[in-house]
Amino acid sequence: MSLPPLFPRRVTSPCRIGPLTMGSGHPVVVQSMITEETRNIEGCVEQIIELHRAGCELVRVTTPSLGEAECLAEIRAKVNERHGYVPLTADVHHQGTDIAVEAAKHVDEVRVNPGLFVFRRHGTRAKTETGLAVDVRGREENEVDRLRAELAYDPAEWALELEAIEESFVPVLEACKRFDRAIRVGVNHGSLSERILITYGDTPRGMVESAMEYLRLGEKHGYTNFNISAKASRVPIMVAANRLMASRMLEEGMRYPLHLGVTEAGDGDYARVKSTAGIATLLMEGIGDTIRVSLSEDPIHEIPVCYDILQSLGLRITKVEYIACPSCGRTKFNLPTVFNQVRDATKHLKGLTLAVMGCIVNGPGEMADADYGYVGAAGGKITLYRKRDVVKTGIPQERGVEELIALLKADGVWKEPGEGSDGLTPLPTLAPKNRLAPAAPV
Ligand code: SF4
Repeated sequence: MSLPPLFPRRVTSPCRIGPLTMGSGHPVVVQSMITEETRNIEGCVEQIIELHRAGCELVRVTTPSLGEAECLAEIRAKVNERHGYVPLTADVHHQGTDIAVEAAKHVDEVRVNPGLFVFRRHGTRAKTETGLAVDVRGREENEVDRLRAELAYDPAEWALELEAIEESFVPVLEACKRFDRAIRVGVNHGSLSERILITYGDTPRGMVESAMEYLRLGEKHGYTNFNISAKASRVPIMVAANRLMASRMLEEGMRYPLHLGVTEAGDGDYARVKSTAGIATLLMEGIGDTIRVSLSEDPIHEIPVCYDILQSLGLRITKVEYIACPSCGRTKFNLPTVFNQVRDATKHLKGLTLAVMGCIVNGPGEMADADYGYVGAAGGKITLYRKRDVVKTGIPQERGVEELIALLKADGVWKEPGEGSDGLTPLPTLAPKNRLAPAAPV
């Protein structure tokens, strides 16, 4: 009654994020981000609770300045009081040391963006070296190569920048150690630092090396509770960056969990397809421990897409798995109508795999490993299957759903909607090992 994944998952170290554990064989965590301004505390509290109720297990809140980071204390307290504990992440970007240190007091995870954390505007170096403000990004390839050669960092300059990063990052590492918080090193293809762009180009390699610097600094200072994201708006770049991230980490003996997402995917069907193309490709390779589907819509719409990706790969089972043929000239009934009837009657039976097939010629073979099958037969009749065995034949179409329910009842797998199940809009249940004690209040 479940769909065991047919691919091994990448072995990772665990990352503790409040009550969640990410990686290390735990279920893939579903996360999203609220869109309210952080200073609108009531709005944030409402949206966090709404997302958590919809199944979002880790909710991100933006903290562009210290003022927003300070708001997190009240947001955390009100969410706890009105709803219960929700794992929270604070998103930190430009010159983020003080912001991240403040955020670490209140939330379970701090996200830092290596491209922006110690921020130098693009063109700064070009101006210094040539007297012209030049941005290396968005140029013809040969011009980029020329600029990169002209502006290349020497080892002393490189070391100086790394020292500046270390100085800014160590207080964050210390705060996260003190409060037992996670850090997400979140690289974006669109916001690599000028030093990384000049050295590695606008490439997956640049994304990966940018993150590696932060991971090495963490380990140097005794901090290892990391997870990493390497996002891009173009699927091939996002996929390449995550593959490379996993292998580069392994070369240096690191096994941190990976957060998958396609940035700026847009909205509607195409955004869902685009996100799925990137996320599912990597999950199928065993890469990925948490996912976010970024939509330019209300973030509540992201959660069902995440669960559908995980369910379709057999990584999280949150609802009934249906197998239905597209129908063809052999179909003996209106398949879309019958499929809807079967689904309406059974959609609360989380964990079952049910097949609705149009004909007996190919149906039984094509419904693969379904637990039960509802198959059209000659003369407008229905045949019911348990696994690959015929259980009943010659059922008039109008009694098909009724007979299917009777079979499920006889087998002891039927539940009334809402009875001992998650009802018509099932929420996921984490495995017990993913329910650790909440982080200590600060
Ligand atoms: Fe056609 Fe039968 Fe295949 Fe359905 S199962 S598509 S009806 S051949």
